[in-house]
Amino acid sequence: MLTPLLSSKELFELMRLIQNSRNIVICCHHGPDGDAIGSSLGLQFYLRGLHKKTNIVAPSPYPDFLKWMPENRSITVYSEQKSTAIHLIDSADLIFCLDFNAFHRLNAMQEILEKSKAIKVMIDHHENPEEEKFNLVISQPQMPSTSEMIFHIIYQLGAYEKMSRSHAACIYTGMMTDTGAFTYNSNNPETFYIIALLMKRGIDKDEIYKKVYHSWSANKLKLWSYILNNNLTFYANNSACIYTLTREEMKTYKYIRGDAEGLVNEPLKIKGMKLSIALREDTEENIIRVSMRSANGFHCRQLAEEWFNGGGHEDAAGGKLPMPMEEAVKTAEKAIESIDF
Ligand code: 5GP
Ligand code: MN
Repeated sequence: MLTPLLSSKELFELMRLIQNSRNIVICCHHGPDGDAIGSSLGLQFYLRGLHKKTNIVAPSPYPDFLKWMPENRSITVYSEQKSTAIHLIDSADLIFCLDFNAFHRLNAMQEILEKSKAIKVMIDHHENPEEEKFNLVISQPQMPSTSEMIFHIIYQLGAYEKMSRSHAACIYTGMMTDTGAFTYNSNNPETFYIIALLMKRGIDKDEIYKKVYHSWSANKLKLWSYILNNNLTFYANNSACIYTLTREEMKTYKYIRGDAEGLVNEPLKIKGMKLSIALREDTEENIIRVSMRSANGFHCRQLAEEWFNGGGHEDAAGGKLPMPMEEAVKTAEKAIESIDF
């Protein structure tokens, strides 16, 4: 048996909100990752199974390595189909916000969502949720992924037996990508019990791994090797490091969305490495995107809040800097200097 995620009060409230709705929209954060897309599709499969009119609206495009996911073509991307997205949000009476804890993570879609009079439900695993802006908040920071939360909810609502292989594959993908294929945040035996339940629904987990992680282009491999060779600098006795990635370099290696995802984890393979910082020029705005990972007893979330206008999880956080790359590097260096490793 799985430990219930929701109290009976929360479960009842969620059921009531779903039953009373006609038009449901599911939203996720800007720059959607595997968990954002996996949890959104996972919930949409469930709601459509109840014959509820349901649509997913993502603020910006998601990486190509997720484009095999069942039903991913049903997703409306706000930055590409603005009028459709606005129409869907405006006609919604119930909006699920998945895998984010604050409206600013919607970027350009923030205002439309905040203005919407629909009932809003948050289902998320980040710390410090903006509770007051939602009608129902299901926030569980100890959960490794929002997709795992969606599984729990569907299971508690009694719909596990009806879960299709495609449905299970979406949930598995989100659980896998938010834990680095079950290499961090994944010591709870229940995570593996859920994987077993998903396998019983027919997923081929080895195939899913290949589709997500072994779908590189030659250019991506060359970009990684270029960055690690030329742009990675070590600090504090190899306890910390920074690498940069500019638009010019992206052009050289025919960068496509998702090509740098995971690269920030690579330096943590060095024994004793505590902090890896990635600074990447944004492709749309004139800002530097900051991505951080930490290990070996150091936690990077506070650093993201204090130095990089961001936040996140204890060991995987990010933010942004409104300045050119050289200044961003100086800021990151100062942030590292402030740490007593
Ligand atoms: P990534 O490095 O994969 O882009 O982001 C890792 C985590 O950092 C995300 O799951 C998210 O929680 C957090 N994060 C990334 N960018 C931002 C940001 O701009 N603001 C906040 N508050 N969190 C961010
Ligand atoms: Mn997540």
